[in-house]
Amino acid sequence: MVGRELSAADHPKKEVRAVLDRLVAQGWKLCKEGHWGRLYCPCEGRCLTIPVPGTPQNAGRAARKIAARAALCPLPDGDPRRAP
Ligand SMILES: [Zn+2]
Repeated sequence: MVGRELSAADHPKKEVRAVLDRLVAQGWKLCKEGHWGRLYCPCEGRCLTIPVPGTPQNAGRAARKIAARAALCPLPDGDPRRAP
């Protein structure tokens, strides 16, 4: 994990903020990284990281994409989508 921890409330788009709020409440960590931030899943193997755009062209779609990816956690061992 790199960068400082971000708060879901820091995100400029309310649709994305709502998803981040929910995931952070479930134990996901949000860190400053890339264009805005990156989510790290809460499971023991830390199977999944999700990039969070700061200025998505379509905030609703970006929020749904993040939620859909987050729903994959926990990924089984050996799944190619697991974080390296
Ligand atoms: Zn996970």
